[in-house]
Amino acid sequence: MLKIGCHLSSSKGYEAMGRNALKIGANTFQFFTRNPRGGSAAEISRKDADNLKKLMEEHSFAPILAHAPYTLNLCSAKPDTRRFAKAMMKDDLCRMEQLPAYLYNFHPGSHTGQGVDTGIEQIVEALNEIITEDQQTIVLLETMAGKGSEIGGRFEELRAIIDGVERQDKIGVCLDTCHIFDGGYDLVNDLDGVIAAFDNTIGLDRLKTIHLNDSMNPKGSHKDRHAKIGEGNIGIEALSRIINHPALRDLPFYLETPNELDGYGNEIKLMKHHYIPS
Ligand code: FE
Ligand code: FE
Ligand code: ZN
Repeated sequence: MLKIGCHLSSSKGYEAMGRNALKIGANTFQFFTRNPRGGSAAEISRKDADNLKKLMEEHSFAPILAHAPYTLNLCSAKPDTRRFAKAMMKDDLCRMEQLPAYLYNFHPGSHTGQGVDTGIEQIVEALNEIITEDQQTIVLLETMAGKGSEIGGRFEELRAIIDGVERQDKIGVCLDTCHIFDGGYDLVNDLDGVIAAFDNTIGLDRLKTIHLNDSMNPKGSHKDRHAKIGEGNIGIEALSRIINHPALRDLPFYLETPNELDGYGNEIKLMKHHYIPS
Protein backbone atom coordinates (compact mmCIF):
# COMPACT_ATOMS: atom_id res chain seq x y z
CA MET A 1 0.00 0.00 0.00
CA LEU A 2 1.15 3.51 -0.83
CA LYS A 3 2.23 5.47 2.24
CA ILE A 4 1.17 9.01 1.51
CA GLY A 5 0.12 12.15 3.33
CA CYS A 6 0.70 15.86 3.24
CA HIS A 7 1.77 18.77 5.36
CA LEU A 8 -0.94 19.61 7.88
CA SER A 9 -1.42 22.11 10.66
CA SER A 10 -4.17 22.50 13.20
CA SER A 11 -4.75 24.78 16.14
CA LYS A 12 -6.81 21.94 17.59
CA GLY A 13 -3.82 19.69 18.18
CA TYR A 14 -2.33 16.43 17.00
CA GLU A 15 -5.37 14.16 17.04
CA ALA A 16 -7.18 16.73 14.90
CA MET A 17 -4.38 16.51 12.34
CA GLY A 18 -4.68 12.72 12.32
CA ARG A 19 -8.42 13.02 11.70
CA ASN A 20 -7.84 15.51 8.88
CA ALA A 21 -5.36 13.09 7.33
CA LEU A 22 -7.97 10.33 7.43
CA LYS A 23 -10.56 12.63 5.88
CA ILE A 24 -8.44 13.09 2.76
CA GLY A 25 -7.38 9.47 2.38
CA ALA A 26 -3.90 9.91 3.84
CA ASN A 27 -2.20 7.37 6.10
CA THR A 28 0.47 9.74 7.40
CA PHE A 29 1.17 13.48 7.60
CA GLN A 30 3.87 16.05 8.25
CA PHE A 31 3.59 18.81 10.85
CA PHE A 32 5.62 21.74 12.14
CA THR A 33 7.03 21.35 15.63
CA ARG A 34 6.17 25.01 16.23
CA ASN A 35 5.39 28.13 14.23
CA PRO A 36 7.36 27.71 10.96
CA ARG A 37 9.00 31.08 11.53
CA GLY A 38 10.29 29.85 14.84
CA GLY A 39 8.09 31.14 17.64
CA SER A 40 7.61 29.46 20.98
CA ALA A 41 6.09 26.01 21.01
CA ALA A 42 2.72 25.18 22.51
CA GLU A 43 2.75 22.57 25.24
CA ILE A 44 1.84 19.04 24.13
CA SER A 45 -1.11 17.55 25.96
CA ARG A 46 -0.56 13.97 27.02
CA LYS A 47 -4.14 13.08 26.17
CA ASP A 48 -3.86 14.57 22.68
CA ALA A 49 -0.66 12.61 22.00
CA ASP A 50 -2.26 9.39 23.29
CA ASN A 51 -5.33 9.92 21.14
CA LEU A 52 -3.19 10.44 18.04
CA LYS A 53 -1.26 7.29 18.83
CA LYS A 54 -4.47 5.30 19.14
CA LEU A 55 -5.80 6.71 15.89
CA MET A 56 -2.54 5.88 14.10
CA GLU A 57 -2.65 2.31 15.33
CA GLU A 58 -6.32 1.81 14.47
CA HIS A 59 -5.78 3.05 10.93
CA SER A 60 -2.32 1.54 10.33
CA PHE A 61 -0.62 4.87 9.77
CA ALA A 62 2.86 5.08 8.31
CA PRO A 63 5.36 7.06 10.43
CA ILE A 64 4.47 10.74 10.75
CA LEU A 65 7.13 13.36 10.12
CA ALA A 66 8.00 16.46 12.12
CA HIS A 67 9.47 19.49 10.34
CA ALA A 68 11.66 22.06 12.08
CA PRO A 69 11.02 25.79 11.57
CA TYR A 70 12.46 27.23 8.34
CA THR A 71 14.35 29.91 10.20
CA LEU A 72 16.43 27.44 12.17
CA ASN A 73 19.99 27.91 10.93
CA LEU A 74 22.78 25.92 12.58
CA CYS A 75 25.47 27.50 10.36
CA SER A 76 24.66 31.20 10.27
CA ALA A 77 27.63 33.58 10.43
CA LYS A 78 25.90 35.12 13.47
CA PRO A 79 26.75 33.23 16.68
CA ASP A 80 23.44 34.32 18.25
CA THR A 81 21.46 32.76 15.42
CA ARG A 82 23.42 29.53 15.78
CA ARG A 83 22.89 29.47 19.53
CA PHE A 84 19.18 30.11 19.12
CA ALA A 85 18.91 27.36 16.49
CA LYS A 86 20.63 24.85 18.75
CA ALA A 87 18.37 25.68 21.67
CA MET A 88 15.29 25.38 19.46
CA MET A 89 16.36 22.02 18.05
CA LYS A 90 17.21 20.69 21.49
CA ASP A 91 13.78 21.72 22.72
CA ASP A 92 12.09 20.23 19.63
CA LEU A 93 13.82 16.88 20.10
CA CYS A 94 12.81 16.87 23.73
CA ARG A 95 9.17 17.48 22.75
CA MET A 96 9.37 14.76 20.10
CA GLU A 97 9.74 12.19 22.85
CA GLN A 98 6.18 13.01 23.93
CA LEU A 99 4.72 12.31 20.49
CA PRO A 100 4.10 9.09 18.56
CA ALA A 101 6.62 10.39 16.02
CA TYR A 102 10.29 9.61 15.63
CA LEU A 103 11.32 11.36 12.43
CA TYR A 104 12.47 14.99 12.60
CA ASN A 105 13.36 16.76 9.38
CA PHE A 106 15.32 20.03 9.16
CA HIS A 107 17.00 22.21 6.55
CA PRO A 108 20.76 21.84 7.11
CA GLY A 109 21.20 25.61 6.94
CA SER A 110 22.70 28.52 5.01
CA HIS A 111 26.34 29.40 5.59
CA THR A 112 25.63 33.11 4.93
CA GLY A 113 29.03 33.77 3.37
CA GLN A 114 31.23 31.63 5.61
CA GLY A 115 31.74 29.01 2.90
CA VAL A 116 30.45 25.46 2.54
CA ASP A 117 33.20 23.81 4.58
CA THR A 118 32.74 26.06 7.61
CA GLY A 119 28.97 25.64 7.31
CA ILE A 120 29.26 21.86 7.31
CA GLU A 121 31.63 21.98 10.29
CA GLN A 122 29.18 24.08 12.29
CA ILE A 123 26.24 21.84 11.44
CA VAL A 124 28.19 18.74 12.50
CA GLU A 125 29.33 20.37 15.72
CA ALA A 126 25.77 21.41 16.55
CA LEU A 127 24.30 17.98 15.79
CA ASN A 128 26.88 16.30 17.98
CA GLU A 129 25.97 18.64 20.79
CA ILE A 130 22.21 18.17 20.35
CA ILE A 131 21.65 14.51 19.48
CA THR A 132 21.55 12.27 22.54
CA GLU A 133 22.03 8.58 22.92
CA ASP A 134 18.62 8.03 24.51
CA GLN A 135 16.42 9.89 22.03
CA GLN A 136 14.15 7.71 19.95
CA THR A 137 14.04 10.30 17.17
CA ILE A 138 16.00 10.05 13.95
CA VAL A 139 17.11 13.45 12.68
CA LEU A 140 16.73 13.86 8.92
CA LEU A 141 18.73 16.24 6.73
CA GLU A 142 16.54 17.56 3.92
CA THR A 143 17.98 17.71 0.41
CA MET A 144 17.91 21.37 -0.66
CA ALA A 145 17.70 23.32 -3.93
CA GLY A 146 21.02 25.10 -3.34
CA LYS A 147 19.38 28.51 -3.19
CA GLY A 148 21.75 31.29 -2.08
CA SER A 149 24.23 29.90 0.45
CA GLU A 150 22.07 26.90 1.32
CA ILE A 151 23.90 23.72 2.26
CA GLY A 152 22.51 20.39 1.11
CA GLY A 153 21.96 21.11 -2.57
CA ARG A 154 24.49 18.41 -3.42
CA PHE A 155 24.38 14.85 -2.11
CA GLU A 156 28.12 15.19 -1.31
CA GLU A 157 27.38 17.92 1.23
CA LEU A 158 24.87 15.76 3.08
CA ARG A 159 27.35 12.91 3.03
CA ALA A 160 29.99 15.15 4.62
CA ILE A 161 27.57 16.11 7.41
CA ILE A 162 26.56 12.49 8.03
CA ASP A 163 30.22 11.46 8.17
CA GLY A 164 30.81 13.92 11.01
CA VAL A 165 27.86 12.84 13.15
CA GLU A 166 28.82 10.65 16.09
CA ARG A 167 25.42 9.01 16.66
CA GLN A 168 25.25 7.22 13.31
CA ASP A 169 22.02 5.46 14.27
CA LYS A 170 20.19 8.79 14.70
CA ILE A 171 20.85 10.46 11.35
CA GLY A 172 19.09 10.06 7.99
CA VAL A 173 17.89 11.94 4.92
CA CYS A 174 14.58 13.27 3.61
CA LEU A 175 14.62 13.68 -0.17
CA ASP A 176 12.56 16.58 -1.57
CA THR A 177 11.78 16.06 -5.26
CA CYS A 178 11.29 19.76 -6.02
CA HIS A 179 14.52 20.67 -4.26
CA ILE A 180 16.79 18.14 -5.96
CA PHE A 181 15.24 18.86 -9.36
CA ASP A 182 15.91 22.56 -8.82
CA GLY A 183 19.34 21.54 -7.59
CA GLY A 184 20.08 20.00 -11.00
CA TYR A 185 19.27 16.30 -10.56
CA ASP A 186 17.34 15.02 -13.57
CA LEU A 187 14.35 13.24 -12.04
CA VAL A 188 12.48 13.46 -15.34
CA ASN A 189 14.87 11.76 -17.77
CA ASP A 190 17.21 9.85 -15.51
CA LEU A 191 15.55 8.71 -12.29
CA ASP A 192 17.72 5.59 -12.13
CA GLY A 193 20.84 7.73 -12.46
CA VAL A 194 19.73 10.07 -9.67
CA ILE A 195 18.95 7.15 -7.36
CA ALA A 196 22.31 5.56 -8.17
CA ALA A 197 24.06 8.86 -7.39
CA PHE A 198 22.22 9.05 -4.06
CA ASP A 199 23.13 5.47 -3.26
CA ASN A 200 26.80 5.89 -4.21
CA THR A 201 27.21 9.17 -2.35
CA ILE A 202 24.97 8.83 0.72
CA GLY A 203 23.63 5.27 0.67
CA LEU A 204 19.97 4.37 0.20
CA ASP A 205 19.82 2.97 3.74
CA ARG A 206 19.94 6.61 4.96
CA LEU A 207 16.85 7.58 2.98
CA LYS A 208 13.82 7.57 5.31
CA THR A 209 11.20 9.87 3.76
CA ILE A 210 10.31 11.71 0.56
CA HIS A 211 8.76 15.14 0.07
CA LEU A 212 6.71 14.70 -3.09
CA ASN A 213 6.45 18.06 -4.85
CA ASP A 214 6.34 19.31 -8.40
CA SER A 215 8.51 22.34 -9.26
CA MET A 216 7.52 25.70 -10.73
CA ASN A 217 11.02 26.15 -12.11
CA PRO A 218 13.27 24.27 -14.54
CA LYS A 219 15.91 21.73 -13.53
CA GLY A 220 18.99 23.39 -12.06
CA SER A 221 17.24 26.70 -11.33
CA HIS A 222 18.17 26.61 -7.59
CA LYS A 223 14.84 28.29 -6.82
CA ASP A 224 12.69 26.10 -4.51
CA ARG A 225 9.13 27.00 -5.52
CA HIS A 226 6.80 24.02 -5.12
CA ALA A 227 4.09 23.40 -7.72
CA LYS A 228 0.95 21.29 -7.52
CA ILE A 229 1.36 17.70 -8.68
CA GLY A 230 1.33 17.62 -12.48
CA GLU A 231 1.39 21.41 -12.84
CA GLY A 232 5.15 21.88 -12.71
CA ASN A 233 8.29 20.93 -14.60
CA ILE A 234 8.63 17.47 -13.07
CA GLY A 235 5.18 16.33 -14.11
CA ILE A 236 2.86 13.50 -13.22
CA GLU A 237 4.70 10.88 -15.31
CA ALA A 238 8.01 11.39 -13.52
CA LEU A 239 6.31 11.64 -10.11
CA SER A 240 4.51 8.36 -10.81
CA ARG A 241 7.82 6.70 -11.64
CA ILE A 242 9.17 7.99 -8.33
CA ILE A 243 6.40 6.49 -6.16
CA ASN A 244 6.66 3.19 -8.04
CA HIS A 245 10.45 2.89 -8.15
CA PRO A 246 11.62 -0.30 -6.37
CA ALA A 247 14.12 1.70 -4.28
CA LEU A 248 11.53 4.24 -3.14
CA ARG A 249 8.06 2.68 -3.28
CA ASP A 250 7.94 1.49 0.33
CA LEU A 251 9.00 4.85 1.82
CA PRO A 252 6.46 7.35 3.16
CA PHE A 253 5.67 10.26 0.81
CA TYR A 254 4.58 13.72 2.02
CA LEU A 255 3.06 16.35 -0.27
CA GLU A 256 4.11 19.96 0.35
CA THR A 257 2.32 21.42 -2.63
CA PRO A 258 0.43 24.74 -2.53
CA ASN A 259 -2.94 23.31 -1.48
CA GLU A 260 -5.70 23.44 1.09
CA LEU A 261 -7.09 20.21 2.53
CA ASP A 262 -9.36 19.48 -0.47
CA GLY A 263 -6.56 19.99 -2.97
CA TYR A 264 -4.32 17.65 -0.99
CA GLY A 265 -7.12 15.07 -1.00
CA ASN A 266 -7.27 15.22 -4.79
CA GLU A 267 -3.50 14.81 -5.14
CA ILE A 268 -3.49 11.85 -2.77
CA LYS A 269 -6.24 10.24 -4.81
CA LEU A 270 -4.27 10.94 -7.99
CA MET A 271 -1.05 9.39 -6.65
CA LYS A 272 -2.91 6.33 -5.33
CA HIS A 273 -4.41 5.94 -8.80
CA HIS A 274 -0.89 5.92 -10.28
CA TYR A 275 0.55 3.50 -7.72
CA ILE A 276 0.97 -0.01 -9.08
CA PRO A 277 0.51 -2.59 -6.29
CA SER A 278 3.36 -5.06 -6.06
FE1 FE B 1 11.49 21.49 4.17
FE1 FE C 1 10.48 19.76 1.58
ZN1 ZN D 1 10.91 23.66 -0.53
